[in-house]
Amino acid sequence: MAILKVARMGHPVLRTIAKPIPPAEITSARVQRLIDDMFETMTEYSGIGLAGPQVHEPLRIFVAGVRDGDTSIPIDDDHDMPFMAVINPEITPVGTATAEDWEGCLSIPDIRGRVVRPAAIDVTAYDRSGRRVRLSASGLPARVIQHETDHLDGVLFFDRMKSFDTLTFMDEFRRHWAKHEDE
Ligand SMILES: [Zn+2]
Repeated sequence: MAILKVARMGHPVLRTIAKPIPPAEITSARVQRLIDDMFETMTEYSGIGLAGPQVHEPLRIFVAGVRDGDTSIPIDDDHDMPFMAVINPEITPVGTATAEDWEGCLSIPDIRGRVVRPAAIDVTAYDRSGRRVRLSASGLPARVIQHETDHLDGVLFFDRMKSFDTLTFMDEFRRHWAKHEDE
């Protein structure tokens, strides 16, 4: 396993449309190693999601999840999210309800902003064993899955912000916002 270099905002790989991984190649040593390395990289940098283009692999793949009891995750949230490797995801919003919450990104270090997204989604994808899977998500997992899938289309969370009023450096976030977020 290896910790991969994370592309930061401004690197063109973050603005490219990632290519699907042929299902027959999901179980190949190369893709399996990439998945392991992406999990290790995400954990190293205390992320809750990491997409292929963020590690200079313009492929339609992301990993996500929160370790039980991990308090180093820099997003305030009570929700759990199981570890998952998601390949070639297709997202369909369920209903018209939206939710607004803070997002951050390992490619945009030390910045948070509030983003409105569909509150609930259905996802079809392949898992790391090459099986076709379908899942429904709401809350934090729905937000993370949409954020990561955006990366596969060259979209960053700034692009989804309706206004930049909430754009906040982490120090200021901790000082002025985190306390007030306990709804
Ligand atoms: Zn991101």
